Amino acid sequence: FKENQKKELKDLVAKKLIGSNEEDGELGEIINPYTKETTTRYVKCTPEDAKRALETAKKAFKKTKNSTLAQRIAWIEDVAKKLEERKEEFAKCITLEVAKPISQSRVEVQRCIENLKITAAAAYDIVGETIPTDATPSGAKTTSFYKRVPLGVVVAITPFNFPLNLVAHKIGPALVAGNSVVLKPTPEAPYTAYAFAKLFIESKYAIDDALSVVYGDAEVGSTLVKSPIPRKISFTGSVAVGKIITQNAGIKKITLELGGNAATFVENSADLDWAAKRCAVGAFANSGQVCISLQRIYVDSKIYNDFAAKLGEEASKLKVGSPFDEDTFMGPLINEEAAIRAENWINSAVNEGARVIAGGKREGNILYPTILADVTDDMNIVCEEVFAPIVSLVKVNGYEEAVEKMNNSPYGLQYSIFTNRIDLMQKAIDDFEAGGVIVNDIPTLRFDIQPYGGVKLSGIGREGPKFAIEDMTEIKTIIIR
Ligand code: NAD
Repeated sequence: FKENQKKELKDLVAKKLIGSNEEDGELGEIINPYTKETTTRYVKCTPEDAKRALETAKKAFKKTKNSTLAQRIAWIEDVAKKLEERKEEFAKCITLEVAKPISQSRVEVQRCIENLKITAAAAYDIVGETIPTDATPSGAKTTSFYKRVPLGVVVAITPFNFPLNLVAHKIGPALVAGNSVVLKPTPEAPYTAYAFAKLFIESKYAIDDALSVVYGDAEVGSTLVKSPIPRKISFTGSVAVGKIITQNAGIKKITLELGGNAATFVENSADLDWAAKRCAVGAFANSGQVCISLQRIYVDSKIYNDFAAKLGEEASKLKVGSPFDEDTFMGPLINEEAAIRAENWINSAVNEGARVIAGGKREGNILYPTILADVTDDMNIVCEEVFAPIVSLVKVNGYEEAVEKMNNSPYGLQYSIFTNRIDLMQKAIDDFEAGGVIVNDIPTLRFDIQPYGGVKLSGIGREGPKFAIEDMTEIKTIIIR
């Protein structure tokens, strides 16, 4: 990726598709969080580039809205096929940029391929329906129906933790629905986004200029959000940035997929071996940098010690180290600042009475899988999103106490329960204040075909191909007299 990159980027700049307009645009550098070596150079964009991309997208919308659905479906299917052919290269690219363990990067690429295929198939369901306007006498002899039409220009802004698949969750549905798109990917993984965008742009089914990519952070992002050109902002990222976006966007459609503080309740009748094994995965995969990372485990007092011991044992089996090694389960955090922040949270929880039963050790930007026991629900570590490999055990007496404590959070992405009691499974489905409820598995479970999103501070709207496509269109009502 290193040598030809600048030239390649410049070529694409000339095509007005990607990167900065400036001949000698400033180069940004991505340093691999594990090796500390430079892995990517990219052309930084300016707010002027962002405006240019929006103008390009505005013109392109005339073409996208008049294209056929057949062409757009073939386009998405073609990208899925091309990605399948180059899946190992893309997995390496993710690991090079954000240090996700290679086995988990492969899973992300595979998910992305399937996500695109599901998106292409879901597009056949962009349908309207007829309305019985003669339901009131004034509607006699009218025919009415509605159809779903594309919105116009869609701005997609994405985070670092799934730098490929979360891009696909936005640009696939937006393009197949007939919109044009400006993507601003995470500044942590520009090459992953660039290589993915190239698959779209170079496809034989591509619609010219329908997709542009601009690189940058808050300044470029807020230029896109504030502009009157886009009809929709689709954002995945932190609550802090989500709040800024709601203030800056004005009257536009907005989808916000924000942070979480996922929790589970391990009830007396649960299969404790299974629960412990899965909870270790939910808490520590991708170093806890997942919006639905398992952060809080409420455990019934009768099984608390037993479960804590089993979870500690599972955590000790996870290999921590180089993300390039095949059997590594956990690599570094995205940067040292994030690891120090997490370490400080552990220290303050310990000062307030929590006990470290596994991990707690930091080396540079690696934080070892950490389990805190005897956590109380007023400690910061369970109130805020930690986004690090730390999980807290909170002792409770029974289901009612667990539900009350779980719901006592400003977030609500996904919650789960481990139990063999069907009455509690049914109650949890109704009681948990979250966008998703998982029974007998971790709240970290997500299938790309499902509707996905949060309540409360965790966001507005749902993704998942069928639901995102719906969101990327609007209803146009027709009456024929
Ligand atoms: P972040 O909020 O720092 O950045 C996300 C994106 O927003 C980046 O592209 C960033 O450059 C851009 N941005 C920053 N300031 C902006 C502004 N003022 N206007 C417009 N764009 C701006 O998030 P991150 O650190 O990349 O990712 C971690 C966060 O994302 C966590 O909170 C995590 O829970 C959340 N997340 C949520 C989901 C979900 O589906 N709910 C999925 C993954 C990650």
